[in-house]
Amino acid sequence: MATNVIVAVRTRPFNSREKKLGCKECIVMRDGVSTTITGNAEQGGKTTTFTYDKSYWYDTPQEKLFKDLGVEVVNKGVEGYNGTIFAYGQTGSGKTYSMMGVPGDLGLIPRLNNYLFEALEKNKAKNHQYFVTVSYLEIYNEVIKDLLNPSDAHLKIREHPDMGIYVEGIAEIKANAAGDIEKFIEQGNKVRTVAETKMNARSSRSHSCFTIRISQKTVEELDG
Ligand code: ADP
Ligand code: MG
Repeated sequence: MATNVIVAVRTRPFNSREKKLGCKECIVMRDGVSTTITGNAEQGGKTTTFTYDKSYWYDTPQEKLFKDLGVEVVNKGVEGYNGTIFAYGQTGSGKTYSMMGVPGDLGLIPRLNNYLFEALEKNKAKNHQYFVTVSYLEIYNEVIKDLLNPSDAHLKIREHPDMGIYVEGIAEIKANAAGDIEKFIEQGNKVRTVAETKMNARSSRSHSCFTIRISQKTVEELDG
């Protein structure tokens, strides 16, 4: 099966420490695609240009990121294809801002959730019924923990010939609306081994994976 991977990069504004240090911008983006980084003068001021599918400045509207990166994942998901959005970067580089956003300027995840339920609502009219379930796990020191059904159990990854890779015994909880999904993310975050805010080696060993599963049933009315 053909896979499509899109790689995007986004800057973040200077934090207060960097402002105090009088840091200068060293990144230039062109055409929304190329990202050029210039090293500082003491290190020779070397300039390197990288090409991404998308290069976003920090003030790119969250709505644009959603349209470019999110919409198609939901559209394909509703058609039955797997999709993943994966944010990678050092602590403090802007992952949570882009993925979750801030009140009044929502990020990808809440926008995806709203759009998902809108898309399912539209398809319902075509004799389809949908069930949305979510699961949320953390991998920490190679141990998998269920964040929505916390216990000391170490969950196991298994492979099923038809269903592919899955986590045995993980809680799959029904979500009826976009708000439910956000609630489960929040609930799971509270259980994570390491709070994300501290820039330390522990937090960088904690990874989490939130899965939304869409099941579809076609409903037919029989005559007589
Ligand atoms: P991470 O989740 O990667 O550790 P955060 O998303 O928490 O990083 O970002 C670190 C800080 O920078 C936060 O205070 C966040 O609000 C701010 N920030 C990150 N990206 C942006 C952006 N695009 N626009 C404005 N502020 C941002
Ligand atoms: Mg974060």
